[in-house]
Amino acid sequence: MNEDEIKHKFVDAGHKCPRCDSESADIGVRVIEVGRTRKMRANIRLCSGCGLIFYEYMPPL
Ligand SMILES: [Zn+2]
Repeated sequence: MNEDEIKHKFVDAGHKCPRCDSESADIGVRVIEVGRTRKMRANIRLCSGCGLIFYEYMPPL
């Protein structure tokens, strides 16, 4: 992987708020229930601009 690809990846994984596009802070990882039986890992983030809290999908370990 060259440097451009790494940068692109980093931008893609950027943690901008989906509402106002500000930077967001990492609060922690939670396991959330999806439906009755499935569970999913999610990274919780708090926007420093508008205060929105949002979940970010994390692949299973
Ligand atoms: Zn925001």
